[in-house]
Amino acid sequence: MSESRNFIEEIIENDLASGKVKEIYTRFPPEPNGYLHVGHAKSLCINFGLAEKYHGKCNLRFDDTNPAKEDEEYVESIKRDIEWLGFKWDKLLFASDYFDVMYQCAVTLIQKGLAYVSDETAEEIRLRRGTLTQAGEESPFRNRSVEENLKLFAEMKAGKYADGEKVLRAKIDMASPNINMRDPVLYRVLHATHHNTGDKWCIYPMYDFAHPIEDAYEGITHSICTLEFEDHRPLYDWVVRECGFAEPRPQQIEFARLNVQNTIMSKRFLKKLVDEGKVMGWDDPRMPTLSGMRRRGYPPQALKNFCERVGVAKANSEVEESYLYSCVRECLNLTADRVMAVFDPVKVVLTNYQGRETVSVENNPNAPQITTRQVPFGKVIYIDGSDFSLDPPPKYHRLKPDGYVRLKGAYIIHCDEVVTENGKVVQLNCSVVPGSRSGSDESGLKVKGVIQWVDSETCADVTVRKLQSLLNDAVAGETDFSLRFNADSMKTVSAKVENSLLSAKVGDSFQFMRVGYYVLDRDSKKGSLVFNEIVGLKDSFKQ
Ligand code: ATP
Ligand code: MG
Repeated sequence: MSESRNFIEEIIENDLASGKVKEIYTRFPPEPNGYLHVGHAKSLCINFGLAEKYHGKCNLRFDDTNPAKEDEEYVESIKRDIEWLGFKWDKLLFASDYFDVMYQCAVTLIQKGLAYVSDETAEEIRLRRGTLTQAGEESPFRNRSVEENLKLFAEMKAGKYADGEKVLRAKIDMASPNINMRDPVLYRVLHATHHNTGDKWCIYPMYDFAHPIEDAYEGITHSICTLEFEDHRPLYDWVVRECGFAEPRPQQIEFARLNVQNTIMSKRFLKKLVDEGKVMGWDDPRMPTLSGMRRRGYPPQALKNFCERVGVAKANSEVEESYLYSCVRECLNLTADRVMAVFDPVKVVLTNYQGRETVSVENNPNAPQITTRQVPFGKVIYIDGSDFSLDPPPKYHRLKPDGYVRLKGAYIIHCDEVVTENGKVVQLNCSVVPGSRSGSDESGLKVKGVIQWVDSETCADVTVRKLQSLLNDAVAGETDFSLRFNADSMKTVSAKVENSLLSAKVGDSFQFMRVGYYVLDRDSKKGSLVFNEIVGLKDSFKQ
């Protein structure tokens, strides 16, 4: 980890050094209205990462104050994704656990003359709010008595009013230069069944009221959120203070959200893709969701490295997709076994070779400990069409008529004869160079090219999904994702692979030698394996 500190770490270190806080406490507060995406990974890495670094704690708190859009499925998926990244929450909480506390806080504000019940519609409130240059206009209900407000608020809770008929507003300052301070709405009437509290409540707190109370109640020291909440901070501080929470109070800190080029960071649009069947589900390997990335074979450590290296900024920016791929590749390079696969099979008959044997192939030359496996080898093999050229350019080191190449882990072969049908190469008759077996080569031949191959008797036919971004490149100024949707982002091809892959488990990742990284998908069945392309081998990211 780099020694330099980001601005949030500086704040935390100062707070620890000054004794303002003894132990840091953060929280990750997702709204359970969709699956987590790579942007959330950034927030997870900050909140859980800081807690780990400074030996503090981090809560997982579901922000379920909006009953209409939330679902148990999302709660479970979020927990699974956080565990997958390897983070451990201290307490698992729901904003709805605090509905009683919040109600009491609202009553406190009313008693202090700092909140009132208003009969205005949302539209009337908006019209009276004023503008950046013009003060707002006071609500006609602003000066209701404490007693009347207490009675009306209790009636709101008791279900006397219809949705939208009344709201509870804070009484702050209609002339504040910060529009968020112009008597913001704290509670609304909403007759909806909540996934956690059922029909107990028909009034629900607004985010700006609920969030600071949850933070303060839990003893959160640093409440880290994205930049768009910067203007809400005075209201956050007001709520914590006026509701009577003691010092040290939580401190809101804003950072710039993560944006990745050609990547959808809107749960709403991701949900639309799922609902309209444009993808195979939230965990479609093309989705920028954490469950999609898991299914795609991205190692969790790669995502953490990515978030760490992108850093924490105070200004919005966009990170190149290739940077993420580069982090994925770096991890897989150390962990993924090299195996042999052939996408465009050309049959090779080794005319002077009889019998069968197994040859030893290294699993991963970059692993901390090098292991090998035995791969069956026989008279008829397949090589990839792209490793043979009838009309090779200069310095072509793969197979060509009357040329030599080494078969990975096995022998050097010579191409004696090319069999074509209608101009297409259908078979290569080759001979094995005597004494050229890998590891005990006595042939004296210097051969530059080494290519992958599979044994025709034992190889398996598998399906491979080639994946591209769900979005086409941005056209300048275009913000509507649906106009950029890449309908051609998944192509299915077949390949022949060595038989060691028959014992692979769902989620196992491999490097198909000289091609790219692939992961076994859960759609695989016995005898019909399906692999997802994780990332190619070439790194186009310039560090
Ligand atoms: P929506 O507004 O669509 O519900 P959201 O992105 O605000 O989505 P939340 O579930 O509220 O989603 O987010 C949980 C946490 O993740 C929040 O603290 C939010 O600031 C953070 N977060 C969301 N998107 C990003 C992002 N792209 N970069 C960094 N943090 C993010
Ligand atoms: Mg949100």
